[in-house]
Amino acid sequence: MYAGKVVESGPARSVFDSARHPYSAGLSWSSRPSARRSRATDPEVPGDPPDLTEQIVGCAFAPRCARASAECTAAEPPLDTVGPHEVACFHPLDGTR
Ligand code: SF4
Repeated sequence: MYAGKVVESGPARSVFDSARHPYSAGLSWSSRPSARRSRATDPEVPGDPPDLTEQIVGCAFAPRCARASAECTAAEPPLDTVGPHEVACFHPLDGTR
């Protein structure tokens, strides 16, 4: 969930190990023990959550997303099938690290 909406769903272990949405990927890495993390490849989640009292146009995660494009700020991404997950993202990760 991000900004009150589902951004990724699927089998828990699969989402944790091979997240396709940039936000869930950042969360799964942030929650791992530091011994298993690499600073060089850690897709941290910078910035702050959106103000939900304001109207959000496009993807709510765009201001915090390194993969954001003009498409992301123009329309809300639909929840689509990406591998074994349902993902709301125009530029999902491929599930590999
Ligand atoms: S739709 Fe765009 S801004 Fe939103 S998570 Fe995907 S790549 Fe990032």
